[in-house]
Amino acid sequence: MGQHEREHVRVAVIGSGFGGLGAAVRLRREGITDFVVLERAGSVGGTWRDNSYPGCACDVPSHLYSFSFAPNPDWPRTFSGQEHIRAYLEHVADVFRLRPHIRLDHEVTMMRWDAEQVWWEIEVANGVTLTADVVVSATGPLSDPKMPEIPGLASFPGKVFHSARWDHDYDLRGKRVAMVGTGASAIQIVPSIQPDVARLTLFQRTPPWVMPRMDREITGVERWLHRQLPFTGAARRGLLWGIRELQVSAFTKRPNELGLIESIAKSNMARSIKDPALRARLTPDYRIGCKRILLSSAYYPALAEPNVDVVASGLAEVRGSTVVAADGTEAEVDAIVFGTGFHVTDMPIADRVVGAEGHTLADAWKDGMQSLRGATAAGFPNWMTIIGPNTGLGNSSMILMIESQLNYMADYLRQLNVLGGRVALAARPSAVGAWNRRVQERMKRTVWNTGGCTSWYLDAGGRNTTVWPGTTSEFRRATREVDLAEYEVVRAPVREPAEAPAVSA
Ligand SMILES: Cc1cc2nc3c(=O)[nH]c(=O)nc-3n(C[C@H](O)[C@H](O)[C@H](O)COP(=O)(O)OP(=O)(O)OC[C@H]3O[C@@H](n4cnc5c(N)ncnc54)[C@H](O)[C@@H]3O)c2cc1C
Repeated sequence: MGQHEREHVRVAVIGSGFGGLGAAVRLRREGITDFVVLERAGSVGGTWRDNSYPGCACDVPSHLYSFSFAPNPDWPRTFSGQEHIRAYLEHVADVFRLRPHIRLDHEVTMMRWDAEQVWWEIEVANGVTLTADVVVSATGPLSDPKMPEIPGLASFPGKVFHSARWDHDYDLRGKRVAMVGTGASAIQIVPSIQPDVARLTLFQRTPPWVMPRMDREITGVERWLHRQLPFTGAARRGLLWGIRELQVSAFTKRPNELGLIESIAKSNMARSIKDPALRARLTPDYRIGCKRILLSSAYYPALAEPNVDVVASGLAEVRGSTVVAADGTEAEVDAIVFGTGFHVTDMPIADRVVGAEGHTLADAWKDGMQSLRGATAAGFPNWMTIIGPNTGLGNSSMILMIESQLNYMADYLRQLNVLGGRVALAARPSAVGAWNRRVQERMKRTVWNTGGCTSWYLDAGGRNTTVWPGTTSEFRRATREVDLAEYEVVRAPVREPAEAPAVSA
């Protein structure tokens, strides 16, 4: 390749979390080696590289929260910690020989569809540009931290950071700490830092439902068994999956059945929280499951400790080193930790994709994210997402959904090969519309829409564009193969031959 020639690849994968690495493994298995994985950070791992806060662990058991094609008999705990999941992903990158494809420190800043060439032009922050026939965007639904705009925060003299960008150089021991938020990350952080900090002030806008966490060490015997007899590991995974599949209808069709789970969560709280006033502050007023159900056996005991204050109100203002809640409660603190989640329904990558009609994906999605089968979007030929709109789960492993999307990706590429030449598939707006109408129709009865809460599952317009309203096996069936009737086949425009000179007889 000459100095000024751009590299061209069959597939550019963006991101190297479970989604991007899974896509890379699948591409190799499909015999495709002409691809790159562009990753903005200096190492692979996505979620499990970025979230290194104290207590960070998965909340779906490890034997299910891992790739089916890369079982790990050596998971140390039923819910393994961040460092083990990160090591697993590094291992996947090695074992499946993905390293030669991975370009670290390659943040994609812009992708433009070139209709003449029928390919994507990709710009990277470090100045590299390349082109690709197909883009597989695996930038993650929970990869860009969200910081609320709090008046006065900029002049706070102490330390401020987000849970997904933990500052390990800052020692919290003996400090007065404000923890903002009570989501999945916060409930893991609180019991991990509470014993060490001088005072912990927890700002809670809405209390979560918290179920006990059945976490334990996986014994040497179990590990030996999974190593020697791999079907035992597969059976364990199958059981974990099956139990969760059976729970789905309560979330999607019969939220009233979740009452029994609510009583388990209430006794989880009652065991540790004896003060009735605190218990009242911590009791949710919406149906369990409406927001993500959290798992912890350590959260409530930590909140009952004398160095913790639960403020049942959001953080509204910072005045010097004083944090002020919306209800007027004040506390002086040395550090503020934000456990305030991510840009989920307004993914930043959507601003960086310009499709066939010259507008961005963010423009196309201004009234809410919409895709076809969680993968492709109208107006964006040969561009697909892993964990796209309405593919999230409330109760099971996202790896199941990722693997379904990889089946779809593999078939998509096979179809392009069969069609041959410079060709693209463009999702028909009618097919995208029909898919989303079906999804939204089913959503009406779900606990996420009827449970009486607002959550990050809903976008600014109140539409649930994040969660899949069905079982993982239904999604597996819906993404087994590409239905060509849902796509328009797009080819490079045929050029008029240059006007031929007149031929005289
Ligand atoms: C703390 C935490 C705990 C979780 N626990 C669970 C769990 O127990 N079970 C479960 O099912 N799910 C869980 N999740 C959800 C989790 O995000 C998914 O399961 C899964 O890890 C997502 O993988 P991904 O590859 O799609 O995205 P990510 O892991 O987020 O990876 C995206 C990658 O894309 C890169 N990237 C983003 N933008 C660009 C760009 N412009 N250019 C180049 N690279 C870019 C990022 O740097 C990142 O490496 C958890 C999430 C968090 C935050």
